[in-house]
Amino acid sequence: MNRVCHYRDGVLWLDDFRARDLAQQFQTPLYVYSEQTIIDRWLRFADAWPAPHRICYAVKANSHIAILQLMARLGAGFDIVSQGELERVLAAGAEPATVVFSGVAKSAEEIRRALSVGIGCFNVESQQELQRIEAIASDMGKVANVSIRINPNVDAGTHPYISTGLKTNKFGIDYELADAVFDYAAQSPTLNLQGIDCHIGSQITEPAPFLDAAKRMFAWVDKLAKRGIAISHLDLGGGFGVPYHDEAAFPTAEYLQGLLGLAKDYPQLTLMLEPGRSLVAEAGVLLTRVEYVKHSTEKRFAIVDAGMNDLLRPALYQAYHAILPEREEQQLGQVTDIVGPVCETGDFLAHARHLAVAPGDLIAVANAGAYGMSMSSNYNSRRRPAEVLLQGQQAKLITAREQYSQLWQREQLVYTMQSDEGEA
Ligand SMILES: *Cc1c(COP(=O)(O)O)cnc(C)c1O
Repeated sequence: MNRVCHYRDGVLWLDDFRARDLAQQFQTPLYVYSEQTIIDRWLRFADAWPAPHRICYAVKANSHIAILQLMARLGAGFDIVSQGELERVLAAGAEPATVVFSGVAKSAEEIRRALSVGIGCFNVESQQELQRIEAIASDMGKVANVSIRINPNVDAGTHPYISTGLKTNKFGIDYELADAVFDYAAQSPTLNLQGIDCHIGSQITEPAPFLDAAKRMFAWVDKLAKRGIAISHLDLGGGFGVPYHDEAAFPTAEYLQGLLGLAKDYPQLTLMLEPGRSLVAEAGVLLTRVEYVKHSTEKRFAIVDAGMNDLLRPALYQAYHAILPEREEQQLGQVTDIVGPVCETGDFLAHARHLAVAPGDLIAVANAGAYGMSMSSNYNSRRRPAEVLLQGQQAKLITAREQYSQLWQREQLVYTMQSDEGEA
């Protein structure tokens, strides 16, 4: 149910809109999100996750304030990794107490701001960070809620760049070194040691590595209890995979049942999850138009008006995105690489797809709702795309296309302009 992109009478629709009409009204490249799909993905978690357990949406996946507002209305908390994300969440009207703050490099300014607005908890990634939070909280006369991020050393079998639970990663505190950090946090009057957390990686398609990590985390809770350290929450992170290609959908209900089973003996613990991608990836589509079709002796290229600056995932991780042409019959063409306008060989959206397209034709890059716009840049001085949210029968522009003058609005010229001299 609810595939945002589908064909009706052989032409491409996104929910209840013809792709062609959206492209005509809002121009390309264009990000389009389906509100209904976000809600459906949210319910996959929420329906199987009874209170008091919580879901903190990982803001970095898609940090648009309208999407944050929707998440808050659905009942989500937020997992943030920077002050910028904190300010976005506040701008979206979220309750600061529902926010957990992750990330390895929290600055003093970020910690101060988070304490002053009263966020729920810091997910602490090192002893030094813990001491910094303690010093700032003490200075402000506050008590800081903290959770310690443990590195459970689970190999999630994912792309090395997005695997975060191994000893060799920069994230979390080494399993063997964490004891001292817990002791420090537990004895500090300025720190309220609330929880433990982990996050083992991203785009993990099976429950096994998560349950493996969860077991290690519950064992930690036991170990802490034996030493007289009681905690009130266990945050198991995000990383649930989505079917980009031919992967099966992540069995969310099965995983949550498994977790709740493990948690049976811990009625005092509130469990938390931090899904990002799995709530928004499938809801988003990048619409782009073919500018040129070019043949080399070896290859056929469709050069489109969206590039790696708009959607970095293919270039960064060799990520796969399904490509859907405007007319269904165009899926039966020659093998084609879909490449962008940016001056980099790595600037591609897809390799070797069957596609019969001509200049002016529209194509949709599917499953682009996570780590799409949030990773976009202005490289090559390209304006970032507009964004549209489909809400039932309405298509709402939620981000205007950038103006060219915005590209240099924070920059300063340093020499007097020739024309100014002439006027003087
Ligand atoms: C990135 C991240 C997430 C979300 O990961 P997804 O793969 O998008 O679900 C959750 N928690 C932490 C700490 C993260 O860094």
